Amino acid sequence: MTDTPVPADRPQVIVVGSFVQDHVWLIDRFVQPGETRRANGFSTGPGGKGFNQAVACARQGAPTLFIGAIGDDALGAAAQTLAADEGIACRWQVRDDAPTATAGIVVDKAGANQIVVNLAANEHLDPSFIDAQDDAFAVAKVLLLQMENNLDATAAALAHGRRHHLLRVLNPAPVHPQLDVALLSQVDVATPNETEFALLLERVIGVVTDADTLADQSDEELHRLARTLGVATVVVTLGSNGCFVSHGDIDRRGDAEAFYRVDAETVKAIDTTGAGDAFSGALVAALLRFAGQPFRQAIEHAGRAAALSTETVGASIAMPQFDDVIARFS
Ligand code: ADP
Repeated sequence: MTDTPVPADRPQVIVVGSFVQDHVWLIDRFVQPGETRRANGFSTGPGGKGFNQAVACARQGAPTLFIGAIGDDALGAAAQTLAADEGIACRWQVRDDAPTATAGIVVDKAGANQIVVNLAANEHLDPSFIDAQDDAFAVAKVLLLQMENNLDATAAALAHGRRHHLLRVLNPAPVHPQLDVALLSQVDVATPNETEFALLLERVIGVVTDADTLADQSDEELHRLARTLGVATVVVTLGSNGCFVSHGDIDRRGDAEAFYRVDAETVKAIDTTGAGDAFSGALVAALLRFAGQPFRQAIEHAGRAAALSTETVGASIAMPQFDDVIARFS
């Protein structure tokens, strides 16, 4: 296990999340059952919502620690090298009972994709391994989580985050089948996309909402719905429609309004894979970089970073640098 010490003198983001090795095949059309078909191209690279968000955050200039699980195998070793090259401090749990996670992604000539993912080691991340990282939680400011690990590990991370007064941010993607109100109540900021927001509403208040028409609802209605989740601040990302922010009564995080929309930037989007990861990673980095400023400033920066990420193919590798975001949209 190669662990990197956490610099104690700087604000820190801890990302507890998934690492997945993505394998991408380009093909003219999807195969039928039983068919073998030649691909036109192949690439492999790092992925997983957790690792993508750690890269997005680190590239926005926030010292970032990634905590995750990999297998005792070649892909796990490659993940460690890759993270070190990216300059991200990591605490890896190397599992001997599960391989490093992999995804097979087939993209057809229209740009549509089919994805098979084996979350493998990510589902075995041990809560006691999280407990052993308490020194890191003690110096961090923000905790960022997704839902590609087991919920016991997620709950352990939230408990440490709470004990050390970290801002706890959850990107509930993909919504875990066992996610409940009790876990949501441990979160300060949630960043679902439209589909995840609709699923959370169904889970929490039993209301079935059409994710495709959420963006067309009035701001008042979106705010009313967001308030039912029991999370202090809810940020619903709406793809090319930007995002919607809803704060509870107690803390508007420096914003004048309790709820508002922020439009997306106009960009030449060619691949929106990982836009949500770019948004959540950049948001937590911006909350640190723009500490003391209204929440809206961090939201606007996150939207810009996410928009820029869509101009490059790929997820992790498409995450922009802070200076590039500022230069493009200043
Ligand atoms: P996810 O990838 O989780 O589905 P979204 O598609 O909602 O997330 O995208 C996250 C954010 O990325 C949006 O809120 C928006 O700021 C930005 N974004 C996504 N697609 C575009 C686009 N086509 N043009 C500009 N910004 C975009």
